Amino acid sequence: MAREIYGRRRVLVTGGAGFLGSHLIDRLLARGDEVLCVDNLFTGDKRNLDHVHGHERFEFMRHDISFPLYVEVDEIYNLACPASPVHYQHDPVQTTKTSVLGAINMLGLAKRLQCKIFQASTSEVYGDPAVHPQREDYWGNVNPIGLRSCYDEGKRCAETLFFDYSRQHRLSIKVARIFNTYGPRMHPADGRVVSNFIIQALKGEPISLYGDGSQTRSFCYYEDLIEGFLRLMDTPDDVTGPVNLGNPNEFTIRQLAEQVIDLVGAKSQIIERPLPQDDPMQRQPDITLARTTLGWEPTVQLREGLAKTIEYFDGLLSSDEARRAGA
Ligand code: NAD
Ligand code: UDP
Repeated sequence: MAREIYGRRRVLVTGGAGFLGSHLIDRLLARGDEVLCVDNLFTGDKRNLDHVHGHERFEFMRHDISFPLYVEVDEIYNLACPASPVHYQHDPVQTTKTSVLGAINMLGLAKRLQCKIFQASTSEVYGDPAVHPQREDYWGNVNPIGLRSCYDEGKRCAETLFFDYSRQHRLSIKVARIFNTYGPRMHPADGRVVSNFIIQALKGEPISLYGDGSQTRSFCYYEDLIEGFLRLMDTPDDVTGPVNLGNPNEFTIRQLAEQVIDLVGAKSQIIERPLPQDDPMQRQPDITLARTTLGWEPTVQLREGLAKTIEYFDGLLSSDEARRAGA
């Protein structure tokens, strides 16, 4: 670890101004690492990092990972990529570039530095799964030419690159397949279901249910997920993944809407809207591999995680209102 300064690990987090990246940075700083955050602020927000600006072990660099990056670090977490369907479909060509060229650039960096590299992959590699729950050895059911393909196929190609770099260049890789995760610092306008429903309920607006709400998802609270990232990164070199990380408790989207309305105490009506193209009908991780190799499983259940997330968005809406009133 020639780059370690005063015995500290120097860790690169791409996408560190986003929802998951900023929480990961908090954990890395708390355990004493040096952190370099690289982000082009496409969906990220510097406010997610306000509390660490000026921290002696934290550095921010504005950069798009689809272009090469020359820095010196000991470990890389590659999280840069818009995660919400609204955002990744906004500029689909850029989404593919971020996943594929971004992976090539970050893997090239890891190869030069001979350092470990973590990839934030996704349950979307399973597409609209024909096997339920999803295990890591299921190859998926993905439309290669649909509206979601830029994300799904981009992430699948990134996995291919990670495994080819591992085989061809003997790189130490860690690939996590992340299932729907939620919590404070999700972008309030990013269109994902948890943030949409909470904001709509807090504003007393109708809840936008896509389709009849019978499609399912399994929601993981961010704290559990980040713990899984750290455990996976600390495994021996022969543990590469892919490893599913997510909460196996499955809910219909209608149940989620009802639970949010109940917790907020809102009077919102549930309004059905058209189901987006290729929206997966079901999704639930089989986390046997994470349990056995990482000793990991989620501890925060949906109601508890939703309550904390509602509190966060409530505070955000109140401070926006206060700012507008003062303006
Ligand atoms: P997010 O949108 O909040 O964060 C993504 C970050 O990447 C943002 O800060 C954005 O500005 C940055 N970014 C995007 N393109 C970039 C580029 N070309 N160069 C540099 N930075 C760029 O999303 P998130 O929920 O925090 O997701 C983080 C990672 O985890 C993503 O790779 C995502 O695909 C993956 N993931 C997340 C979930 C989830 O439920 N949150 C599920 C599966 C996979
Ligand atoms: N969804 C919904 N209303 C919304 C946003 C999303 O009913 O306002 C549905 C969406 O159609 C999908 C599920 O909620 O079935 C999860 O959507 P999200 O965009 O959060 O993530 P996905 O798992 O589809 O990537």
